[in-house]
Amino acid sequence: MDLHSNFATVALVDLVMTGQSAMVLSLIIIAAILYLLVMERRNRSKQTAIYVDHNRNNTVFYSTRYAISAKPDAITGPTTIEEMKSRRRGIYASDRAQMIATALAVRSTYPITRGILVTTEKRYDVSLAGTDEALFEQLTDEYAQATLIANGIAPTANPSPGKCRVCEYQTLCEYRA
Ligand code: SF4
Repeated sequence: MDLHSNFATVALVDLVMTGQSAMVLSLIIIAAILYLLVMERRNRSKQTAIYVDHNRNNTVFYSTRYAISAKPDAITGPTTIEEMKSRRRGIYASDRAQMIATALAVRSTYPITRGILVTTEKRYDVSLAGTDEALFEQLTDEYAQATLIANGIAPTANPSPGKCRVCEYQTLCEYRA
């Protein structure tokens, strides 16, 4: 191998090494940025969470007007309630009803204007009416069903494959889709 080809080989190796180093450096920078973003997000939610439902002794919020009591999974803001679900994604009518009822109860203490349902992959905004009256209107159907249950009358079954798959009563329910 002559001098020129040696020089060319060294230059090529240098080029490859430089390219690899740049790629490794880029990966390190991307990983560092992602780490900082995650930490910043975690810190922000820790800082702004004014209520987290850790155990059964936590405060239960109660609306005397609508006789609804509830404990949200978290209150942030202080105008946002958050409900966590262990499923990957999807939001159901029962989730919205739970969010609305919880908002009514928590409004006895905090001016809740926003609800967020958090699954393992997505966050869903649940629209909450501005006034308690309008919010309760959104709940009317579910409230009627809850009243039936409280009086020992089974509500109308409303099965759907996605909903039944994650329902905790699926092994007992004869209406399961
Ligand atoms: S399994 Fe039964 S109770 Fe559960 S969502 Fe389906 S129909 Fe409703």
